[in-house]
Amino acid sequence: MHVLVVNCGSSSIKLDVLDPHSGERLATARVERVGHPDCVLLMGDDSIPIEGADHARALAFTLPRLLEGRAVDAVGHRVVHGGARFDAPTLLEDAVVEALGALSPLAPLHNPPNLAGIVAARALLPKLPHVAVFDTAFHATMPRRARSYALPKALMEKLGIRRYGFHGTSHAWVAQQAGRYLKEDPRALRIITCHLGNGASVTAVEAGRSVETSMGMTPLEGLVMGTRSGDVDPGIILEIARKEGLDIDGLDKLLNHQSGLAGLSGVGNDLRDIEARAASGDEDCRLAIQVFAHRVRKYIGAYAAVMGGVDAIVFTAGIGENSALMRHRITQRLDFLGARLDEDRNRDARVSPASPVAEFSEHGSRVRLLVVATDEARAIAHDAALLAAGAQSVEAASMIPIAVSARHIHLTREAVETLFGAGHTLTPYKPLSQPGQFACEEKLTVVGPKGRLANVRVLGPERSECQVEISRTDEFALGVDAPVRDSGDVANSPGITLEGPAGVVTLAKGLICARRHIHMHPDDAARFGVGDRDVVEVAVDTDGRDMIFGDVLIRVSPKYKLEMHLDTDEANAAQLSGGDGGVLASTGGSVRLRRRNVGFDAE
Ligand code: AMP
Repeated sequence: MHVLVVNCGSSSIKLDVLDPHSGERLATARVERVGHPDCVLLMGDDSIPIEGADHARALAFTLPRLLEGRAVDAVGHRVVHGGARFDAPTLLEDAVVEALGALSPLAPLHNPPNLAGIVAARALLPKLPHVAVFDTAFHATMPRRARSYALPKALMEKLGIRRYGFHGTSHAWVAQQAGRYLKEDPRALRIITCHLGNGASVTAVEAGRSVETSMGMTPLEGLVMGTRSGDVDPGIILEIARKEGLDIDGLDKLLNHQSGLAGLSGVGNDLRDIEARAASGDEDCRLAIQVFAHRVRKYIGAYAAVMGGVDAIVFTAGIGENSALMRHRITQRLDFLGARLDEDRNRDARVSPASPVAEFSEHGSRVRLLVVATDEARAIAHDAALLAAGAQSVEAASMIPIAVSARHIHLTREAVETLFGAGHTLTPYKPLSQPGQFACEEKLTVVGPKGRLANVRVLGPERSECQVEISRTDEFALGVDAPVRDSGDVANSPGITLEGPAGVVTLAKGLICARRHIHMHPDDAARFGVGDRDVVEVAVDTDGRDMIFGDVLIRVSPKYKLEMHLDTDEANAAQLSGGDGGVLASTGGSVRLRRRNVGFDAE
C-alpha cells in the first residue's frame, strides 16, 4: 500500500508518497512561497516556477507530476486543529469537510490552508479515500484540570476556549518509538516528549496518552519558539497594547512572528546561527539559548510532578534531534530526577529514519534520555492506511479478536468410521472463524488412566492424523502429560483412548496441549510488522487479572483470518471470555498485544 501525505501550510506544501509500513519514501515534492509571485515547485533536482499559484493551483500542477506512473491507495491530510469534535483520524466525507470549515476561526493561520489542500486534492483524486489526521487529536485524552483555563466559564464555553495542544502526531509517534526502544510495557511508562523545532512543545505522556501539553488553545503558549514568544505574563500584552498603541493584528505579529529566539537574539529564528554567534561572544544570542533551555527544563520539572515521576525524556524535531548543545543545557542538572546525562553520548547522538532512536543518558540512569527522529508524514500515512482499509477507527483497526478454544478432537476418515459407524460423515454444527473449519454435532468421550472427559466436540473437516487438544487442567483429570505443541505437530506425543457410539479408537499419538497462537492474514502481518512463526508477547488487561502471555506463535497464511487462540485455562487465568479483543500495544523484537473489552475503553 502507498499513501500520499499532504501537508499544506500557509505558504508551503509538503507532499510525500510513502509505504506506511516501512516508511520508505517513493517520492517527495515541496512547493514554497504559495500565493506569492515567486511560488516554486521543488522536486528531485528540479525547481519549477509556478508564478502566483495558490494551494489549489499548486496542487493541480504538482500532483500529476508527483504521481506519474505511481499507484496510490489513500491520501492522508495533516490538519492542525480538530477542535473539540475531531479527536481521532477521520475519513473525509463531504459533511466532515464542511465541519472542518467551521473550525477555521480556532486556527486562522493553519486550518484554512489545510482545508484548501483537502478540497483541491479531493477534486483531483476523487476516487481515493482521503483521511484527515489532526495535530490536536492525541491531546484529546488530557484531563479537564489540564485543559481548562481559569477564565469565566460562560465565556470559555461560548468561544470554545480550552487547551487543545498541537504537534500531537509527533508526540505520539516519538513516545511510541521510545516505548519500543525501552522494551517496556507502555502502560507503565511516563514519558516527557520535547518537540523542539521552529514550533516547540512539551507533552507529558502517561500510559501512552497525553495528560498535559504546553501549547494551548493556539500554538502560541508554552516554550520559546523560533518566532513565537511562548508563555508571557498576559499583563505584558495589556501593557504593550496600552503604551505602544498596538491593535490586535499588531499584537498577533509581535507575539507570533517577532518574538521567541528571533526576538531575543536579533539574528533570526535559526538556532544554528544563534549558536554560532553565541560561541563568538554575542550576549543576546547567549541569553536566547539560556532562556530557551530554561523554559524547557521548567516544563520537564513540572511534567514530572504532573505524572508523579518520569521514566524517559525524549527530544525530537530540528533542535531536539540536532542540537547537542541545547540538549546538554536542558538536561545537565536533572540528576535529582534520576536523569544522568552522558556528555559523550549526547555529543555523538545521531538519528535517521533507519536508526530512529539514540540514547544519551549514562548507563544505569534511572530516567532514560533519548533522541528520537520524528516522522509526522509516516504517522499520518499509517493512520490514513488503516482508515482507508475500511476500519471504523484507528483503535478498531488495531484490535485483535481473542477466541477461546475448548478441548476438541480432530479425526481421520478411518477414525470417524470406527467411532461413529461405517460410511458416517461428520455433521457441521456451526462454522468456526477460520475459513473452512467447523464444529461438528459429533462428540466423544476421552478416556485416560485416571479419569474420563465426556462430550468432547469433534471439529471438521477430517484430517490426515488424529489430534486431541486439551488443557493442562484436563491433563490432571485424565492422568496424562501432554506436550505443548503447535497444531499438527503430533510426533512423539502420547496416545489416548476415544470412545464413540459405534466403537473405540486407541491412538498411539496425538494428545497435545495447543500452543497459544495468533492467526494472521499476510496483510495483518504486514500491518503489525511481524512474520510467520515469530514468537511474541501478549499483555492482557482485565479487572484485577492483568497478565502477559509469552511464547505466542504468529501463524501467517492467506487462508487465515486475524484471531488469537487461547485455551480455557489461559483464558480463565486472565478472566477472558470469547468476544474479547487485543490491541497492538508495542513492539521491540517482540510484539505486545493489549486486550481491551470490545467497545469499552478504560477511563
Ligand atoms: P523543524 O521545525 O523541526 O524543522 O526545526 C527547524 C529548526 O531546527 C531550525 O530552525 C533550526 O533552528 C533547528 N536546527 C536544525 N538543525 C540544527 C542543528 N544542527 N543545530 C542547531 N539547530 C538546528
